[in-house]
Amino acid sequence: MSFGFTSTPEKKTSAMQSFAIVLGTKNRKKVRELADLMGLSGIAWRSLDDFPNVPAVDENGASFAENARLKAQGYAKAAGCWVLAEDSGLEVDALGGEPGVRSSRFAGEPADDARNNARLLELLRDVPDEKRTARFVCHMVLARPDGTAAAETFGVCRGVILRELRGTGGFGYDPLFQIREYHRTFAELGSAVKSCISHRARAARAMVPYLAKLSLELDAPNRPRGA
Ligand code: IMP
Repeated sequence: MSFGFTSTPEKKTSAMQSFAIVLGTKNRKKVRELADLMGLSGIAWRSLDDFPNVPAVDENGASFAENARLKAQGYAKAAGCWVLAEDSGLEVDALGGEPGVRSSRFAGEPADDARNNARLLELLRDVPDEKRTARFVCHMVLARPDGTAAAETFGVCRGVILRELRGTGGFGYDPLFQIREYHRTFAELGSAVKSCISHRARAARAMVPYLAKLSLELDAPNRPRGA
């Protein structure tokens, strides 16, 4: 899958044309969300699907930051490209921060959203409404083609865990995660709102200045002197 989201594609210089960033995830829904979030930064976005020979990185870090680094740096080195990767998940206060880095496999292997949500509801069955607070967390890392980290950002979105699933949009824990101010879950709010307030949106926005600087640096040899 290729994402040709460039603000002025017809004016791209040769350096810009060779400048693509790979989104370091095999989760198609995340690829879509990330590509949409980053769509305006004048960079060609590609996904790991364009690199079938690059093996999946083991996400065995102890934190979101560690996992994001493992993915960004591992995929960048293996593919020889700039890679933007993130690690994200849900932290529930009444569960001491669980499921945390185990969010995708909370109910065991294979990862399954429906079983994860059922397990979360079961664990929180006796937890009163006022103690069902939670937050989505996202750590994002941009890695150079040699596998070193160039930038890291972080985003958080706070909410509460409902007692039943509501809404059909999104993925993962979206149908259980209600944003208090909106009285709606992420699955009910839809991508337009989610792309403004989510943990990933916040981490992505914080990454934009780094991407803009990088885009300028890589394009520098093609600009007229003094421009
Ligand atoms: P990762 O792919 O290892 O980062 O796993 C992230 C997991 O956290 C997903 O499989 C979901 O269970 C959960 N998660 C992360 N972000 C979201 C979100 O925006 N909505 C719902 N669940 C999410």
